[in-house]
Amino acid sequence: MLKRSPLNLSACGGCGGPSFQQPCPLCSYYPMGSDKGQWHPRTASREFFCEKVAESAPAGTGNLATWVLAQKKRTVAYREDLSFRQRLDDTLSIAAGLDVANPGVVFDLVVGGQTSVHRERLQRDLWSFWEVVDALGMQSGPEDRSGAMADAVVEMHAGDFDGACAKLRAIVTDELDQDRSRRPEIRRALDTLDRISPRIEATEPVGPRM
Ligand SMILES: [Zn+2]
Repeated sequence: MLKRSPLNLSACGGCGGPSFQQPCPLCSYYPMGSDKGQWHPRTASREFFCEKVAESAPAGTGNLATWVLAQKKRTVAYREDLSFRQRLDDTLSIAAGLDVANPGVVFDLVVGGQTSVHRERLQRDLWSFWEVVDALGMQSGPEDRSGAMADAVVEMHAGDFDGACAKLRAIVTDELDQDRSRRPEIRRALDTLDRISPRIEATEPVGPRM
């Protein structure tokens, strides 16, 4: 999981528990805001963390993966976008069956050992791929786009980097054609894809470019 997601756990500045986002999923600590969270300056115990992780799936069967994913239930997308809600619920039930590190071990590492737990550093191009996925995921889009993005991610996990990039490029190109997005992220996404997986030009005799 850590190899394939941008997850990075480090001790929260408020409660001190393992956290991967701001506001903190344990205590809502947000260093830039006035809300310092209900735990600040108390300390999230190992037991508290393990409880929160267990509660992230039905009947206390949560694991680290469901705990991370469950935070997305707090989003507007989950409340208002039926297909997003469906996909997240499906993903959560798959995540519940994953074999992930025990939350107590993670707590000891992150809080006790003051080690931040993160995936191995990816090649720069792989990292850029996930940035494009994130950029596209940030915007609400038509349902068919979600499916196409899921396909691209599946292809990526199957090891077909260029194939996955081609799928993302099709989404981005479509967005630009439809003029659905005026956001510069989409334009940048296309530049990124061209850089990390150059388009294969049609085999035509080399001549002056138009
Ligand atoms: Zn916290």
